Amino acid sequence: MICKAHLLTIGDEILIGQVLDTNSSYLSSVLTGIGVSVQGKSTIGDHAESILQELQQLWKTNDLLVITGGLGPTNDDITKKVLLEIFEDHLVHHPPTLERIREMFRAYGREINDAQYGQAMLPSACEPLANALGTAPGMWFMRDNKVLISLPGVPYEMIGIMEGVGLDRIRAQFTLPKIYHKTLLTMGIGESYIAEKIKDIEEGLPGTIRLAYLPHTAGVRLRLSCTGEEIETVRAVEEVMQAMVERLDKWVYGFNEDSLPAVLLSRLQAQGLSLATAESCTGGNLAHVLTQVPGASHTFKGSVVAYHSQTKISLLDVPRHIIDTYGVVSRETAEAMAEGIAHKLGADMGISTTGIAGPGGGSKDLPVGTVWVSVWLKGRVHSELFRLGEQRTRIIERATMWGLLEAYRLVKNDIL
Ligand code: ATP
Repeated sequence: MICKAHLLTIGDEILIGQVLDTNSSYLSSVLTGIGVSVQGKSTIGDHAESILQELQQLWKTNDLLVITGGLGPTNDDITKKVLLEIFEDHLVHHPPTLERIREMFRAYGREINDAQYGQAMLPSACEPLANALGTAPGMWFMRDNKVLISLPGVPYEMIGIMEGVGLDRIRAQFTLPKIYHKTLLTMGIGESYIAEKIKDIEEGLPGTIRLAYLPHTAGVRLRLSCTGEEIETVRAVEEVMQAMVERLDKWVYGFNEDSLPAVLLSRLQAQGLSLATAESCTGGNLAHVLTQVPGASHTFKGSVVAYHSQTKISLLDVPRHIIDTYGVVSRETAEAMAEGIAHKLGADMGISTTGIAGPGGGSKDLPVGTVWVSVWLKGRVHSELFRLGEQRTRIIERATMWGLLEAYRLVKNDIL
């Protein structure tokens, strides 16, 4: 059976672009992942009449509606009021919710006020979905085998409810097709080049397997999906995946939820190698993304943000004559920085970046976006020149990702 769903996000702040609607992208992804067919999504401002009309319309054509926002005291519980009207319902006191809110406030040494008391008044027809991270519980309504779920707008509360009880309740309620997904993560190669390289694999896909190209800042993700979780289906997806990995090997850094910094660190750790970074144009961003990875300290020794030429000389031992002869944005300087940081911090590998992040400082020979990335690994060194566009933040992000990818390739022995 197909479960058709629509997602509705509520809030003026989303409509005026003040808040990015991450709730619906999260919901799309997790619902699709369990086999729900998301047919559409929409956003409505904090206006009861418009919300009511939209919901009445959507209720006719969908099996599942998921709403986020408009539940708390700050916007007058607008969603709850609309739901009372739709389900011709009234509010009742829900003691377990009140007790939980009281406990939350007690932990902060505070008493609850009328607004929080109101959070424990719920439509009699709903089944509350516990919210461990906030005051407003989610609400589950059912009529004619259709389901409406109303969730708080605060993303971590909404996610907490879905992962705590919401997804399990949906799975139990609907007979959903099982879906098997596997995603290949690539970097350094554009969508159209990938399409060219895997043309025959894509053309030969069995009708049951779909391939989606999902580009994002750190590369292109390729998702294979197939209905069914039986052994043959999984095997068929894995075979196609293996063929794509072989074809795109140079650009592949992982699968599914892997991140490039995490993959690099775990590879280095597995080989007993340590890492340090010397950063000019990335200004510490390499160190930042590496230290986002739990357990980074096993491998990552530290970083020097050597922004000024004098800092490169005094803290990284870059010979002055190298900078004078070749310039600060050059292969030679990048290599001296990578080797310098590895020696200074006693690391096996050093990654360096030096470039022009703009908007000023570019020239005909070295335009804004010119970046040298160098990786030194126990005496072997690899450097690459990049032109990374004109936008400062994008240049920094891309130089960071290239630093990680070149390091990953070097440690995999892809380059030397
Ligand atoms: P309250 O905050 O009054 O308790 P609520 O939990 O229902 O109510 P809203 O008031 O609608 O949620 O939104 C609270 C905050 O959650 C917003 O200010 C916004 O920062 C965030 N938020 C709301 N909707 C979304 C969304 N679709 N995507 C991302 N963030 C959202």
